[in-house]
Amino acid sequence: MAYRQARSKMLFAEAVKHIPGGVDSPVRAFGAVGGACPFIVRGKGSRIWDEDGNEYIDTVCSWGPLIHGHAPSEVVAAIKKAAELGTSFGASTRAEVELAKLIKKAFRSIDLIRFVNSGTEATMSALRLARGYTGRDKIVKFIGCYHGHADGLLVKAGSGALTLGVPSSPGVPAAYARQTLLAQYNDLDSVKRIFKKHKGEIAAVIVEPVAGNMGVIPPADGFLEGLRKLTKRYGAILIFDEIITGFRVALGGAQELYKIKPDLTCLGKIIGGGLPVGAYGGRKDIMEKISPLGGVYQAGTLSGNPLAMAAGLATLKMLFRKGIYKELNEKSTALEKGIREAAQSAGQSLRINRVGSMQTWFFTDKEVSDYKSATASDTKKFAKFFNAMLRRGVYLPPSQFEAIFVSTAHTKKDIDFIVSAEKEAFDEIKN
Ligand code: PLP
Repeated sequence: MAYRQARSKMLFAEAVKHIPGGVDSPVRAFGAVGGACPFIVRGKGSRIWDEDGNEYIDTVCSWGPLIHGHAPSEVVAAIKKAAELGTSFGASTRAEVELAKLIKKAFRSIDLIRFVNSGTEATMSALRLARGYTGRDKIVKFIGCYHGHADGLLVKAGSGALTLGVPSSPGVPAAYARQTLLAQYNDLDSVKRIFKKHKGEIAAVIVEPVAGNMGVIPPADGFLEGLRKLTKRYGAILIFDEIITGFRVALGGAQELYKIKPDLTCLGKIIGGGLPVGAYGGRKDIMEKISPLGGVYQAGTLSGNPLAMAAGLATLKMLFRKGIYKELNEKSTALEKGIREAAQSAGQSLRINRVGSMQTWFFTDKEVSDYKSATASDTKKFAKFFNAMLRRGVYLPPSQFEAIFVSTAHTKKDIDFIVSAEKEAFDEIKN
């Protein structure tokens, strides 16, 4: 069936009259790749369908949460059951306790955990807590890492900010931005220099233990260990932002994979099974500083929402089943292998970075290990490739600097389809 866009285009024209840029999150607008963004009507398993009836294999998976694909029956049933009982109480429910216990089973570094409504809230709150605990103001973040859109974290940020070329946002007070010190990902010396210069001033180092927001970049050997040692030496809190990697690269996230124990962990995405959620947790002595136990204030009308808790519980229970991560890894490896071979035979320079079921295909011939090497990619070529894939029924993230996610719903047939679409797409963009 020919690729159609008339209805999505019409809806977008309508949307821009009412919503800034027609979207509720910037990269959805396809600004980096051009073309019209499809308006989605439904998803099931590995597939999504748009307003024009086009069918796609989805590799975005709602930017990570949908590790079991779209509308898995167990998750849908859990949401329905919870909804029948009431959508929100602003009071405690059993599901919060159950989800907290399940997360702690996977994340041994977490003694206490607090649920919030988004990843942005989780990192923002974890940093406030680190500042409250240490009595220090400055934080260290890495150029190209994205931790949500809170003030102070939108300094040289990745993801949409990087894609759209606005890594530091207007509207962030300069005085506040000065509290954010910038280091290079995978470069421990850059962190050492900052600690030496700002002795006794740094509350926390926040890091994506596997970077996902400048494309996937694994931590270099010794990088995370080095951060652990440095933060201990200088009395700063080590915060792992595992909003993407938690329950993604392993059941216990990157901290299980690389065997590093952070002081605080931020979670989101998968733990809400596709509903809005975030969480932060960690060492008891730190977490006890949060209100109502301590003076660091953080609250939320819908925090621990029963629908989100139910969806998260159903999603995580499926992940605790034996063999899930092996299966995800095998599928993702097969995709990587297929794409690599197709690129080689097309004479296309492509660097693939992969950790478990997250990967990025960088349009460059050099190794990608940090912000500088990631941004050396040919984004114009990526844009052409993206649109060639879209027309063939493969929905990739509309940015060179994002992760492709493999879900348990993706089949071998899906992987083969993506690889053969890629071969054709390479052929098309050659000219
Ligand atoms: N941290 C990381 C690593 C993320 O990838 C994201 C979002 O993509 C966030 C934080 C912010 O989460 P949210 O979009 O739920 O606010």
